[in-house]
Amino acid sequence: MSNTENIKLQFLGTCACDYSPKLENECKFCFDNDARRSSCMLIDECFLLDCGEHTLDSLDILKIPYDTISDIFITHTHDDHYNDKSIEKIAESKNEPLKLWVREGAQVPEITNVVKIEMKPYQKYQLSNGAYLTSLLANHDAQSFPQHFIYEKDGKKMFYGCDGAWLLAETYNYLRGQSLNLMVLDATVGDYEGDYRMAEHNSIPMIRLMLPSLKTNRTINDDTRIVLSHIAPSLHKSHAETVKIASGFGAQVAYDGLYLEI
Ligand SMILES: [Zn+2]
Ligand SMILES: [Zn+2]
Repeated sequence: MSNTENIKLQFLGTCACDYSPKLENECKFCFDNDARRSSCMLIDECFLLDCGEHTLDSLDILKIPYDTISDIFITHTHDDHYNDKSIEKIAESKNEPLKLWVREGAQVPEITNVVKIEMKPYQKYQLSNGAYLTSLLANHDAQSFPQHFIYEKDGKKMFYGCDGAWLLAETYNYLRGQSLNLMVLDATVGDYEGDYRMAEHNSIPMIRLMLPSLKTNRTINDDTRIVLSHIAPSLHKSHAETVKIASGFGAQVAYDGLYLEI
């Protein structure tokens, strides 16, 4: 008999890299929907997906001891997703080595008590809790060795696609028929057309265009939760306004501290 357990997800940071100055003062010790921190997610209480300069603050706010983190999965090596100092602090707190998963070829410095694991695109890796993680190539700055992930456990599947614009053909084809339970999409740019970032990040109109095709491709279905993250506050209206816009096409908007189970 197998026990099926929900996947537990908590957004620790949902920003692009235009951080609010409020993080230095009134929001230093709390979450605020309009003062987002560097991109990061806690999965099943022991995995971090990305680890940027604000990740330790987020763990502190939630009173999560650093030594409960066993593995960190890095989407790419841009500063807002990968910060050696934060990783070093987590590694220091642990007796066991911290596992750091990066895409094959990504150059990251050696850190004491950290074991680097290189992931090959489109391969599935089993994790210590029995879940699986798959690396998928992403359409983003190639120098940063970008990858998207599928995290799956007990038949449930979550796709995480920050950062990246659209989907590469290979990834789109890999996702065919996956019937994901949840899809986290890069929504760096707000609800307007003509932004120059369209080859590296999504805007809301791009996501609106993609979702029906993802449904046709059976990557998602009527029950799939679509969550927008990696939001640049300077390119969006307020969080409340973005929530209203996203609800118009059935998506929700992540915010720092958001907890979800699938
Ligand atoms: Zn980013
Ligand atoms: Zn990036």
